[in-house]
Amino acid sequence: MYQELVSEHFSDRSEVLFVPYASHDHSAYTERMGQFLGESNTKLVGIEAKEDSLTAIREAEAIYVGGGNSFLLIKELLERGLIEPIREAVISGTPYLGVSAGANVACPTMMTTNDMPIALPGSFDSLSIVPFQINPHYHPGKVKFLDEGILKDHFGESRDQRISEFHRIFDTPVIGMWEGSFIHWNGSIGRLTGKATAFVKGQDTFEIPDGSSFYGDLEMGS
Ligand code: ASP
Repeated sequence: MYQELVSEHFSDRSEVLFVPYASHDHSAYTERMGQFLGESNTKLVGIEAKEDSLTAIREAEAIYVGGGNSFLLIKELLERGLIEPIREAVISGTPYLGVSAGANVACPTMMTTNDMPIALPGSFDSLSIVPFQINPHYHPGKVKFLDEGILKDHFGESRDQRISEFHRIFDTPVIGMWEGSFIHWNGSIGRLTGKATAFVKGQDTFEIPDGSSFYGDLEMGS
């Protein structure tokens, strides 16, 4: 259960700094997230409630970046000069949790998001906490939908097609994260809980088995 995962991830921390910049109403989002996690969970404090966001990051015991729109999130982080400070904090041991857009920005770039470009960030470069790209909410194949009871085809690109477009230009491996799955990354090895599809340029797509370990290039670990 998600709440348990969060509490376990932050178990030795007394306060977690929540970054709600992927949404439009920061304090409402922080409040919603606090309620969702429950009173018994780790205490969540929104970065918007802090006087200075840079100091808040530097002093944070743990950082949790929520979902929403990834373009908006990266724009806000860039404008506040928080990309490098977050990266430095995490590299030096501050636990990080990123959900959806928060997982997109943990990657070298946010280019494998599903979001619409509703904001123009100065750059797509992201936190580079993990060395691979993540496509959140991944599902394979084409979409079908019900239109007045009739199942119809959707002609937009599948995720696989979009990821292969990314790989026409870039080499970074991509992990398609199925709903409810998560990766624990310790700085050199990842461990998957749930289901994920791996896209490595020049190789056939493959599934990462539940519970398995893998390296940054998506080679399976022992
Ligand atoms: N909009 C998603 C989220 O944060 C991110 C994505 O789909 O790329 O929930």
